[in-house]
Amino acid sequence: MPVKTTAAKKAPKPSSEEKAPTKKVQKGEDSDKKVKASPELLRGFRDILPEEQGRWNFVRDTVRLVAEAYSFDRIDLPILERSDLFLRTIGKGTDIVEKEMYVFSDPSGRAVALRPEATASVARSYINHGMIDRPQPVKLWYEGPMFRHDRPQAGRYRQFHQVGFESFGVDEPIVDAQLIVLGVQIFRDLGLNVKVQINSIGTPECRHAYLAELVAYFRQHRSKLCEDDKRRLQKNPLRILDSKDEITLELLDGAPQILDWLDEKSKEHFMKVLEFIEEVEVPFELNPYLVRGLDYYSHTVFEFVLIEDDGGKSQNALGGGGRYDGLIGALGGRETPACGFALGVERIVRALAQAEIDPPQRPQPYVFFAQLGDAARRVGLRLFEEFRQAGIPVAEAFGKNALKAQLEAANKLGVELTLILGQKEVLDGTVIIRDMESGAQEIVDVKKVVQIVQKKLKSKEGVAPTTQSPVSDT
Ligand code: AMP
Repeated sequence: MPVKTTAAKKAPKPSSEEKAPTKKVQKGEDSDKKVKASPELLRGFRDILPEEQGRWNFVRDTVRLVAEAYSFDRIDLPILERSDLFLRTIGKGTDIVEKEMYVFSDPSGRAVALRPEATASVARSYINHGMIDRPQPVKLWYEGPMFRHDRPQAGRYRQFHQVGFESFGVDEPIVDAQLIVLGVQIFRDLGLNVKVQINSIGTPECRHAYLAELVAYFRQHRSKLCEDDKRRLQKNPLRILDSKDEITLELLDGAPQILDWLDEKSKEHFMKVLEFIEEVEVPFELNPYLVRGLDYYSHTVFEFVLIEDDGGKSQNALGGGGRYDGLIGALGGRETPACGFALGVERIVRALAQAEIDPPQRPQPYVFFAQLGDAARRVGLRLFEEFRQAGIPVAEAFGKNALKAQLEAANKLGVELTLILGQKEVLDGTVIIRDMESGAQEIVDVKKVVQIVQKKLKSKEGVAPTTQSPVSDT
């Protein structure tokens, strides 16, 4: 029986941007003269173009290296899950479940959802694969697309990417602290300046008492609240704390703070986390209004906030997470403490662009291969492989035939050396090496060319081939 969520029932009508593009055809116009409208992307979805890949790879590579350094193991999870996985974990009354999930019936009539986040999937996988029997903590990381049907705006998409880290099986505050340190380390390695905002929302029990107090406070001011916050007050009052409404923000000044409701154990846990991160000089700030939108969090909650070049006035959350000791139990597994966080890759890439951090899209080639004729192309393919194995990126312009045009392409790329291979060289088993700076040319044995190029590059100051992958510029 397909589970229908509010989101499925109240799916908003497509806006004009979302409708299939149509092009009016004049009356009497010949059908084969019809102009085909170009295909359009869905609103809130985007292509990540080749020219953006430099920054994307920089983020992916940095995350992978930090994950390995902290002994986290990679996990890949399906994008599509049974929708009730998210209903049970993220919780009714959250924006994600109420409004933002892409839920539909698959061809067998089962209710499925495009994942809006991955923590629930990692937890499901932990249970499914009996990871509780492995040495704890089980430390996992993932990356991939998430889907939320939210209103698109700058930095907010309907398909976006997250990288995330989860640690299962240990309830010690050091685990929370290590995750925070790891997150900060990723930003440091990327060259971004962040601070951590941190709070504790205690156990469900102390939260319960606090919520009663919070609701009583806001009920007195109910008439001043916007519709969204009235709804939150009724369905998920904790979420009122991250309202963006100006009146609510003013009211928050006098609202009760959760830290005052923490029991001794929760307080102690939180103080230890703060001590640990202070010890390693993580810049942090207590934010008594920080809560996470999802039901399964307990104790520590935190966000990584970009400190922008305006002296820290504007703030931009690049990611966040916290402890979720109740999640595995809520999914039917044996009670297992856990803690984790997710970072938004689009937001990080945007921050890199704003900070003008622009790593190359791929390693710059040092060598260009210019060919004259098909026989030379054939030899060229083999040479490519040899250079690739030697870790020297080689560019080419197989689409161009004239030597002049190929040398122009080589110049544009700023390569150090160009290898020239014509009919004669193929027959002789040789190749010409042209030094692009001096214009000097030398004929060498094709069998020794890789070795000779390696030597030449080494002798050139500041040139050190590093990559393993071939480069092809057609
Ligand atoms: P959350 O899973 O809501 O805690 O989000 C963690 C991080 O993912 C946020 O701090 C953002 O950087 C990013 N993020 C969340 N929602 C979106 C979205 N719709 N578009 C782009 N990035 C998002």
